[in-house]
Amino acid sequence: MPIVRKREIENLEQLSGEELKAFIDSLPAGQESISELLNYLEDELFDKKCNHSLRYSMQYIMENRLSFPKITGWLNDNGGYCDCKVMEQIAPIWRAKFGDD
Ligand SMILES: [Zn+2]
Repeated sequence: MPIVRKREIENLEQLSGEELKAFIDSLPAGQESISELLNYLEDELFDKKCNHSLRYSMQYIMENRLSFPKITGWLNDNGGYCDCKVMEQIAPIWRAKFGDD
């Protein structure tokens, strides 16, 4: 049977204590930066369309001088192939765990 690699983000709901700490330590940017990135995307996509790239994510990363390859790699690994997918696949799980601010 092939091993289906679960997206890390899908485990987030169940994590607590040491495991949650390890997850946060493994993030490509601070927990707060990721929360802000999601808020930023939500604002941008409110009145603009996703062009099926990570353009607004990239804008945020550049404006905040964060690590481009690390964050886009992490987003991709978790199903966030473009800005609207980040909001669809990552934001609900993230916010259920950490709140939306
Ligand atoms: Zn999209």
